[in-house]
Amino acid sequence: MKVTSSEIVISAVKPDQYPVEPIPEFALAGRSNVGKSSFINKMLNRKGLARISSKPGKTQTLNFYIVNEVLHFVDVPGYGYAKVSKKEREAWGKMLETYLTTREQLKAVLLIVDLRHPPTADDIMMYDFLKHYEIPCIVIATKADKISKTKRAQHLKITKEKLELHPHDTIIQFSSETGEGKDKAWATIASYM
Ligand code: GDP
Repeated sequence: MKVTSSEIVISAVKPDQYPVEPIPEFALAGRSNVGKSSFINKMLNRKGLARISSKPGKTQTLNFYIVNEVLHFVDVPGYGYAKVSKKEREAWGKMLETYLTTREQLKAVLLIVDLRHPPTADDIMMYDFLKHYEIPCIVIATKADKISKTKRAQHLKITKEKLELHPHDTIIQFSSETGEGKDKAWATIASYM
């Protein structure tokens, strides 16, 4: 998909704040600092639309972006940031669970993981949660530019095995530095619309 327009619609916490346009929606989840903002900016050809966070774990809202007037990206606050209090973690969990389990137009979640390292316990928990609710998942293995081509297959294999990736779910090697994987990510999103 060629992106010609993208803008933030709203930062929402509660369902009555979600946008009302009944268009396909794709949520983006990942641990803090994994490269989620960079992924969004690369996909939307924007430099500073999603904040590239110097303070991970700060945004505790669901940020809705409208893309080409035809779909929403929903940026979910990053998880796994140690300095977040138990209370904040609980509020985050509740907000996310409400969104994921009630939003009818949600087509898939893009789970951003770091190709360099095996998925974390939090990544696995997030993936299991999506599978429990039968939500399709597109795994984006980012920072691929940091792994030499000869080691890619091994890293990909570990990521799939650790997540116990469902055969229907796609995994895409991605780099926000080089744009690798961008076309495949858009094609996969389009296949869920
Ligand atoms: P977020 O907290 O998940 O939104 O992560 P950011 O998008 O802020 O990225 C965290 C750090 O990783 C920043 O320093 C980015 O420049 C860097 N980064 C993100 N994506 C990539 C990538 O694909 N390749 C490389 N080499 N660095 C990346």
